[in-house]
Amino acid sequence: MAVTFLFLCVLGRLFYVQVIWGEDLQEKAIDQWTREIPVVARRGDILDANGVVLATNDDTYTVFVRKKAVKDKEYLSKKLSEILGVSYQYVFDKLTATSSSEVTIKKQVKKESIDCIIEQNFSGVYYSRDNSRVYPYNEFLTAVLGFTSTDGKGQSGLELYYDKYLSGINGEILYETDIVGVEIDGGKASYIPATNGLNLKLTIDYDVQQLCETAMDEAMEIHKAKSAQMIVIDPSCGAVRALVTKPSFNLNEVPRDDLVSLNKLGRNGIICDIYEPGSTFKVLTAAANVEEYLQGNKNAYSINHIYNSSRYRYIDGQKVKCWSDHKNGKHASLTLQGGLNNSCNPIFVDIAMALGKKTMYKYVELFNYGQVTGIDFGGEAQGMTLPESAVQNVDLARIAFGQTIAVTGLQLASATASAVNGGYYYVPYLVSEIYSEDGIVAEKIQPKLKNRTISEQASKIVSEMLEKVVSEGSGKQAYIEGYRVAGKTGVFGLTCVIIAMKKRYIMA
Ligand SMILES: [Zn+2]
Repeated sequence: MAVTFLFLCVLGRLFYVQVIWGEDLQEKAIDQWTREIPVVARRGDILDANGVVLATNDDTYTVFVRKKAVKDKEYLSKKLSEILGVSYQYVFDKLTATSSSEVTIKKQVKKESIDCIIEQNFSGVYYSRDNSRVYPYNEFLTAVLGFTSTDGKGQSGLELYYDKYLSGINGEILYETDIVGVEIDGGKASYIPATNGLNLKLTIDYDVQQLCETAMDEAMEIHKAKSAQMIVIDPSCGAVRALVTKPSFNLNEVPRDDLVSLNKLGRNGIICDIYEPGSTFKVLTAAANVEEYLQGNKNAYSINHIYNSSRYRYIDGQKVKCWSDHKNGKHASLTLQGGLNNSCNPIFVDIAMALGKKTMYKYVELFNYGQVTGIDFGGEAQGMTLPESAVQNVDLARIAFGQTIAVTGLQLASATASAVNGGYYYVPYLVSEIYSEDGIVAEKIQPKLKNRTISEQASKIVSEMLEKVVSEGSGKQAYIEGYRVAGKTGVFGLTCVIIAMKKRYIMA
């Protein structure tokens, strides 16, 4: 409303000038009257689930000069170079260049320097606030938060994905000027205020994120790893509580001049990159068998069926083997529980062969592999699954233990969450609320159930089995006294669920 009113004021004034001064002044009148100073909208903050500020702005300003209004260019160049810490020649060149009537002298100038400029009361020198983005925790949540360009536009991560909410709408000040562009003393000015950007409240929990950052730094150090990644999801709703990709960088020192390392260090591999999951994928095969068995599918194995102890399976003339040599007796006479505890490949091959391609693919789809999860983040990879029609038996045998298929860490965590939470697949999400600086909520994001994967009963059985993987099987390193932890190991790490008193988190 205020904006419309001011705009009408300006038009009214132009009309007056045109009518009274006559046609010969028309063009000049428009040009001279509508000198404008941008009023930059404050970019919204980004906060964690409990109000910890993760991205905000420093109070800085852009200083610019309207050249026509400068009386002594040499004097002004000298004074501005002293106040702003730039060379005399640099300012003088800007003031004497002929190209534009207004020139930007320096961006991201501190408030103290602006105070000096105000004190001097120079003619033709103006300033406007700009957005100097700051990240109070430096190298923290880097690949999720992303960063902005030097002029404050979202360039990657959430800064880019939610840019239209964060950026707000710039306003401007229109000044009345005389024929050489000098502001008229006592002249009118109309002020169109900026609409500041909205704040984002994330699902990320600062404390959980901090623990994961430290754990991944240690893992990199201990294993001399090239990269390490971790995601923590609340399986009861799909909210992402932590997401770490290492190596990363300090968001206050974005390596803008080195695009190769910027792309490498800033990439959110958990969401945007795919890999062959290996044995962590056996959760799907186990869940498929349990669900089909409960539904009365005669091809599914009973829960306590004892599988053939041979290390090999021959599928269409090809030999598929277990990673273990089966010589120490650990892989002998295994049930599905034993198969999960020891991660014995042939057991999962047997299940896939018995259930068949159509049924196995039904579960690949139900657990949403081969398609994006729909997380609120740009560039999500959809994974890679062979088209069902192209899958040979030997491919299906390998898919059963996580080969010949590629997934993202996010897909794996979301699918596993649904296997243990009662069979509910939630769309994972990073932002829970969008609100204005005065606290008015513009959007509140509710957990979104995408589909059911397995029944409550099957999920209970699978959870108990995965809990035993941690208490007595290959996942013992994840065991925590006093907590119920479920998990499944793989070559590329561990997927595990912590079932605590009230909170349940899933980590991949
Ligand atoms: Zn085995």
